[in-house]
Amino acid sequence: MSDAVLEYALKKRAPLIDALKQLVACPSVGADPAMADGMEKARQLIEGRLDEMGFQNRQRLMPDNGSGQPAIFAERLDAPDKPTMLIYAHYDVQPPDPEDKWHTPPFEPVEKDGRIYGRGISDDKGPMMIALETLAAFIAVEKTLPVNVKLLIEGEEETGSPSLPGILQAHRPLLSADAVLSADGARWRPDLVSLNVGSRGNAGFEVKLITASQDLHSGRYGGIVRNALHEMARLISGLHDADGRVAAPGFYDGVREPGEHERAEIQSIAYDGSRLLSEIGAAPHGEKGYSTLERLWLRPTLDVNGMWGGYTGAGSKTVIANEASAKITMRLVEGQDPVAAQGSVMRHLEANTPEGVRLEFTGERGASGAYTVPGDHPLLKAASNALEATTGTVPRRVRIGASLPLTEIVHRLLGLHTIMFSFALSDENFHAPNEFFRLDSISDGLAAWVRILREIAESDVADYAPYRQR
Ligand SMILES: [Zn+2]
Repeated sequence: MSDAVLEYALKKRAPLIDALKQLVACPSVGADPAMADGMEKARQLIEGRLDEMGFQNRQRLMPDNGSGQPAIFAERLDAPDKPTMLIYAHYDVQPPDPEDKWHTPPFEPVEKDGRIYGRGISDDKGPMMIALETLAAFIAVEKTLPVNVKLLIEGEEETGSPSLPGILQAHRPLLSADAVLSADGARWRPDLVSLNVGSRGNAGFEVKLITASQDLHSGRYGGIVRNALHEMARLISGLHDADGRVAAPGFYDGVREPGEHERAEIQSIAYDGSRLLSEIGAAPHGEKGYSTLERLWLRPTLDVNGMWGGYTGAGSKTVIANEASAKITMRLVEGQDPVAAQGSVMRHLEANTPEGVRLEFTGERGASGAYTVPGDHPLLKAASNALEATTGTVPRRVRIGASLPLTEIVHRLLGLHTIMFSFALSDENFHAPNEFFRLDSISDGLAAWVRILREIAESDVADYAPYRQR
């Protein structure tokens, strides 16, 4: 089926690639103050393009305290009775380190074997350019956009979006929309057309265990006092039961058991869990009664990320440690209240601490809940239709075991659901040396973005109302 907008977009593929290379050449490493120029250059390139495209009300949304990296906002409200999409992307990139592991300089994009290499090209500059140039093609051919578009292009994604909640709160009316369409968030696998419908939340803290006011000589005190390392090891080993379940009472409150249909759907996804494990030289392990994908997608977890205490230097030292520490984090699923789940683990540790031993909790990392897109959300339907139309395959609904803070923050603060519609693939070395983006993804992405905007234009504003909160 021919589409004049898509034909135009594909014809403009070469200039798109040139513009993408220019953007990648701006070293927009938000984490590094020495690269502030690169951040500014990236912003100006994007802003210039938005002005050419006739976007209005363009502005930089500043973090509350005036420091940090501004987000770029602009809008075109061309379609009065149509839904409004808040399209998200980010212009900041990960630091290039370790730079000596790159085969070509990270900020000098190079085309090779159907790929372009460069820092930030897959995460998120390539996927962002696909979204922007799709909009440009509509504007060039039809002189208008088929739906209302608000753009939010963030500059702090790679540093954990510290200002995003404040920006969203301060600009709620400006950012009001029917749903969020994200040009960030990689596709799961090259061999599977998929849409991500959920991610796990997380929480965590540090715990210090204290048995005495000082380190003790094992000759003088050995056998008459508790050893903090032994006590910590005992506490940690009591976090899970023999079936791999988290032993803290209340931890699973609100967690829903997967239904027959859900299990069958996951089961039907061709997935070689043993290959994943053999790649890392590990044996399968986990909560009894669940498959690998169920463990990854539907079950909460609890892990110790570090433990320390006592003497760890060269040689030996006959000391009885009086303090031991551990870092503990958890991945949370739908239905779990992150603060309550974290509290249940802290109480479980306390309840199992013997008399005369003290626990101190510090370093709470901030709890965020899991995120799930409602199965019948109109934007999920539009995305699914668009992928089916452009790939010939009904996309599989998948989840990720990691967390996507954007989706949770946007849902909490704007009451909107997000569909990740990036054309990056998860094997493209983002956050690692030799990041690349597949050239094929550009044509695939343009086709899918043209189609999803047409699909959204077919839907009604009222379809979105039941899913919007506030
Ligand atoms: Zn990203």
